[in-house]
Amino acid sequence: MDFELTSEQQALCRRARDLADRAFAERAARWDASEEYPWENVKDLAAAGFMGMTVPEAFGGGGRPLLDVILVIEEIARACGITGRIVVEGNLGTVGALDAYGSEAQKRRWFPWVLEGEKPAIAISEPAAGSAATDMETRVEETPTGYRIHGHKCWITGAGTSRLYLVYGRFGGRAGAEGIGGVFVERDTPGFRIGRRELMMGLRGIPEGELHFEGCAVPRDNLLVGPGDGFKKLMAAYNGQRLGAATVALGLAQGAYEKALAYATARKQFGRPIGDFQGIRWKLADMAIQIDAARLMIHRAAARAGHRFPDALEAA
Ligand SMILES: Cc1cc2nc3c(=O)[nH]c(=O)nc-3n(C[C@H](O)[C@H](O)[C@H](O)COP(=O)(O)OP(=O)(O)OC[C@H]3O[C@@H](n4cnc5c(N)ncnc54)[C@H](O)[C@@H]3O)c2cc1C
Repeated sequence: MDFELTSEQQALCRRARDLADRAFAERAARWDASEEYPWENVKDLAAAGFMGMTVPEAFGGGGRPLLDVILVIEEIARACGITGRIVVEGNLGTVGALDAYGSEAQKRRWFPWVLEGEKPAIAISEPAAGSAATDMETRVEETPTGYRIHGHKCWITGAGTSRLYLVYGRFGGRAGAEGIGGVFVERDTPGFRIGRRELMMGLRGIPEGELHFEGCAVPRDNLLVGPGDGFKKLMAAYNGQRLGAATVALGLAQGAYEKALAYATARKQFGRPIGDFQGIRWKLADMAIQIDAARLMIHRAAARAGHRFPDALEAA
């Protein structure tokens, strides 16, 4: 496999790194301390074309393959993890699912939101359904005009700041994975309420919170995938998001490594830079190896995926 980036990809990385160094690095601590959503950065991301990079050109997007998005996420997360996560969800997850399974009308309605800076949310987890997502209890009831949702989601990234939510739920009381499908819910829909925000130890500029659906009615056109193979399809799309999440961690690790290396070179003790001591060198070498291994695994999964979702095993 060829791991060389093309000259176009190298230029894309430079453009993302310039923006991250120029604008995002110095603001990064502010979002964490204030727990504010970085709207200022969102404007910059949209202006740079980093939201909706995977959206097909026919809908005004970048039509880029997965690897290009991954390259941008790493550069942005290297300076600001919170903003990196916005790039993940502005290109993968719900955006990928909408592209793969959405109707023309759904794409015409919601892709423009993404291109303007919307980071849609994905609502799977519930208090009693974490790793065991197929235990979810949120109910989606069919009505003559569409669907009515009853249930409670938690840990939803962007709860309140996102305008669009892809909500997973159980249709018609059917048990197991085969009963699960996904519908879109817009934030201001009656019967949909944003609940408690979690207290976070880091990456505090994006809310992780609860969603409550109390007989929330959405039109039939909001259905993305119904039960049967719906859950399988949604999880295939989620593999893109997994790779994005891994890339945020990679970017943060790369940024931390660069700072550690610079400090170990500048800081002197006993008349020498502390980076001359073997104990510190071992740490830096281990960091460099793990970062390189992570990057290679991520790039392999992304390059093999092309414009499609990554393989489940490689993404995991
Ligand atoms: C920062 C953050 C953002 C999130 N954003 C979203 C979001 O946007 N949308 C969303 O839907 N969810 C989101 N989540 C929820 C996330 O998907 C869940 O945390 C995850 O599915 C794990 O569920 P849990 O936390 O309930 O852990 P549990 O499922 O309770 O697992 C607890 C522990 O048990 C282990 N475990 C569980 N099952 C097994 C098993 N079968 N074999 C071995 N070990 C096992 C797990 O590895 C873990 O260590 C977010 C979570 C966090 C922390």
